[in-house]
Amino acid sequence: MKLLIATGNAGKLKEIRRILEGVDVEVLGLDTVAGAPEVVEDAESFEGNARKKAETLAAFTGLPTLADDSGLEVDALGAAPGIHSARYAGEDATDADNNRKLLLALDGVEPEKRTGAFRCVMALCLPEEPCRFFEGHLKGRILEQPRGEGGFGYDPLFLVPEYGKALAELSLDVKNRISHRGQALRALLDFLK
Ligand code: IMP
Repeated sequence: MKLLIATGNAGKLKEIRRILEGVDVEVLGLDTVAGAPEVVEDAESFEGNARKKAETLAAFTGLPTLADDSGLEVDALGAAPGIHSARYAGEDATDADNNRKLLLALDGVEPEKRTGAFRCVMALCLPEEPCRFFEGHLKGRILEQPRGEGGFGYDPLFLVPEYGKALAELSLDVKNRISHRGQALRALLDFLK
């Protein structure tokens, strides 16, 4: 079976590919789709945005399509940046810009109150069929300084209490074992089996 992954985020694609290694699925990236339509992520939930991305690309290509919508919800910020995580510091924000803005927003907030969670909703859509959804979340704390070189996005600022390490300090395989994205993908794999 071919499975198109509707993401332009290289970090997400790397994690998804690793989990699907060894599964009898041919994983295709968006780079294989000529003239792929741009999807505006203007829904008000992770689920809505994941559906929009997967449905649009499934209709365009005729392929089973998987899309991930994910983000970081910080308790002291009323669950921000949430669905706006990728563009927290502006339309063309880099990961470094977003991390800087997050640190500023939490300036002076003590460690015990810097709790939050990553959330991921995956949508699997086949042309002309209802989409299915798979979810995962990972609780942790926002550090006061970045740590580690791995991962992407907010990983250097996200402390996983059980490991005493930032997500960016964990290997790809360990991250996949515990992460919001890993949980959602394993639920998808159970469904595919
Ligand atoms: P999306 O492409 O609209 O789903 O935005 C996802 C954004 O959430 C990313 O650009 C990151 O800023 C953040 N994010 C989601 N998952 C992760 C993760 O595993 N590590 C770090 N940041 C993440």
